Amino acid sequence: MLPKIGPYAFNGLDDYMEFFQRRGLYPTAKNCGYCSIPMYTSTRNRSDGLVWRCHRCRRTIAMRTGTFLSGQKIEMDNWLNLVYYWATETPVKQAIVHTGLKPKVVIQQYRFLRDLCSRKLLATPAALFGGPGVIVQTVERCFSQSKKNGCGQQWIFGLVDTSTKPTRGYLHYVEDREATTLLPIIEENTQDGTVIHSDKWTSYRRESTLHGIADNRHFVNPVGEAYTKQIVDSYWNKAKSKFKAMKGVKREWINEYLDEFMWREEYGKDLLQCFENIIDHIAEIYPQ
Ligand SMILES: [Zn+2]
Repeated sequence: MLPKIGPYAFNGLDDYMEFFQRRGLYPTAKNCGYCSIPMYTSTRNRSDGLVWRCHRCRRTIAMRTGTFLSGQKIEMDNWLNLVYYWATETPVKQAIVHTGLKPKVVIQQYRFLRDLCSRKLLATPAALFGGPGVIVQTVERCFSQSKKNGCGQQWIFGLVDTSTKPTRGYLHYVEDREATTLLPIIEENTQDGTVIHSDKWTSYRRESTLHGIADNRHFVNPVGEAYTKQIVDSYWNKAKSKFKAMKGVKREWINEYLDEFMWREEYGKDLLQCFENIIDHIAEIYPQ
C-alpha cells in the first residue's frame, strides 16, 4: 500500500514534490541568479531528490532554498507526516514514535506550526468584537502549571463575544491584572458602543474616565447574567482542555499555545480542514 497522509497517497519523492509545488510550498520555476535564465530540475540525491540546475554555468540550487524548509534537513515525507500529526492533535510523544524522528526535530516543527498560527492571526485583522449594545464578557483566569505554587502572576485575560455563533473569543497571557494593563486590550479588540461585562467594571470605569480611553465602551456589572456566563464558561472550558497539553510549557510559550487554540477555532474545527488550512497558510506566509 502507498503511504497515505490524510486523503493523499504518495508514491515516492516525485509525488511529494508535485504536492509541494502544487500547494505553493516550493517554487515551480527558478532563474539562475548569475545568468538570469530559467533553470531546470535535475536529479541529485538530496532530501528533495531534485535540485535546480543552470545549463549555462552549471550551478545548482536546492529545491528548498528560499522556502520555509530552507537549510533544514527533514525530508518532505517526514515533514508532511508531522504536519498531519499536528493537525490531528497527536501529542509530541506519539508523533516521535510514529515518525521515528528525533524529539528535538518534532518539537521544533510543532513550534514552527504554532508560530505560523500566530503569524496568520496577526496578518488577518479579525473583525472587532461587540458593537453598539452587544455584550462582550471579560475572562480572567489563573494559568498555573502547578497547584502548589498557586497562581502567582500567571493570568490569562480574554474577551468573549456573546453574540457570535460559534462563539468568538480572544485570549492572551498577561503579566498583571491591573485595569491599566487590560483596558488597552479591551479597546484594541472591541468596537465603540460595546457593553463590557466584567467583575472589575468599577475599576475599568474609573480608569477609563481618568485616562480618557475606552470611553465609548460601557462597563457593566455582570450580576444576574446566567446566559452570558454559560457562553463564557463553555468557551473557556474548550480552551482549558487544550492547556492540558501545555503542562511544563515555558511561560514564554503560553501565547503561542493560545494563538494555536484561536487559530484552530477559526480555521481548524475539522481536523482535515485544519491540515489543508495550515498548508495554505504556510504558502501564504512564505510565498514562492
Ligand atoms: Zn547560471
